[in-house]
Amino acid sequence: MKTVNNYNFKDQKVVIRVDFNVPLDENFLVTDVTRITAAKPTIDKILNDGGSVILMSHLGRPKGKDDTYSLKHIVPTVEKVLGKKIIFIADSVGKLVETASDNLKNGEILLLENLRFYPQEKVGDKDFAGKLANLGDFYVNDAFGTAHRAHASTAIIADFFPKKKCFGLLLASEIESINKVLNNNVKPVTAIIGGAKVSSKIDVINNIIDKVDNIIIGGGMAFTFIKAKGGNIGNSLVEDDKLDLALDILAKAKANKTRIHLPIDVIAADAFSNDANIMEIEADDIPDGWMGLDVGPKTNVGNTFVILGSNTILWNGPMGVFEMKKFENGTRELGNAIVDATQEGAFSLVGGGDSVAAVKKFKIANRVSYVSTGGGAMLEMLEGKKLPGIEAILK
Ligand code: AMP
Repeated sequence: MKTVNNYNFKDQKVVIRVDFNVPLDENFLVTDVTRITAAKPTIDKILNDGGSVILMSHLGRPKGKDDTYSLKHIVPTVEKVLGKKIIFIADSVGKLVETASDNLKNGEILLLENLRFYPQEKVGDKDFAGKLANLGDFYVNDAFGTAHRAHASTAIIADFFPKKKCFGLLLASEIESINKVLNNNVKPVTAIIGGAKVSSKIDVINNIIDKVDNIIIGGGMAFTFIKAKGGNIGNSLVEDDKLDLALDILAKAKANKTRIHLPIDVIAADAFSNDANIMEIEADDIPDGWMGLDVGPKTNVGNTFVILGSNTILWNGPMGVFEMKKFENGTRELGNAIVDATQEGAFSLVGGGDSVAAVKKFKIANRVSYVSTGGGAMLEMLEGKKLPGIEAILK
């Protein structure tokens, strides 16, 4: 896998696809700089070599040109994180951009306007990709968050640089982390799959079931399994059309000698609210009118035991409705167990929007081995799919 570390970029103008799709508040201030910080090592490497960079990204889901989604809003934050002035151009292709690129000197950084102001970006238009490609001598993809999209700037553009393209350091480390979990793993391997629905994680479970030793299932999706096994789940979240599928997974796990750990007990509530009445109860004995919104204390003990006995850990999806104080404990305790296992030498990868939100909420993001910057992209990799943004660099 070729990364920017394999090249010297002296006098090279490098077009980098970054993922600066960052959250903004109502005053257009960046509320989380993680993705900008994550791109810094790649940018620094090229500038330190004596090259220049042209950064391109999308922001949000604009329908055509829309000031709300302009990348101009993030310029002060990008400058602060990179510790350098940047030149922002209010367009992504065309005369203005070409002139700015022609005038770009070694050591300088250009930031283009939101690529999604042009519908050509999302449809992977070759002509648009060619215009972006013409701006530089070399192409680097460092945008893991959009690596699962075959867009002009994430995949199609790479065809214009048959010999002068490579992975950025962020994208490379994301790929390595997933490989460490799925392919070059140190056993025992435990995958923790949580979240609302089994339907959104089914392809992940099917792909990892013969690669891991344990799968801890939590969150709303656990109740589809518990109901399928004949349990009473009251008014808990369930996908009735996935009951057979849940049984298939349990059978497949048994055949592969993969242990599936379902919740034993839960915190049940009489309403989906932090003000609800709550009780601890067996996970398969929830009365009507009550719903399981977190895993219970016995489950926490069991989960901790499994995690502490693991050398490789993947965490995707919360154990309960951790956004509400009354139902955060299962997710918090799971996170703490992963931190402890990591301290003991295990490799831990956390990915997927809600688990990342959870490790940030519980302030343990820097105490696990790796926190992924991509939600959908990570899920697709875990599903065993080939990602267009990665394939375009490899071919
Ligand atoms: P996902 O996007 O599928 O990973 O699901 C994450 C969401 O699932 C979070 O917002 C959680 O609040 C929610 N969730 C977790 N456990 C439960 C549960 N037992 N019942 C309902 N929602 C849940």
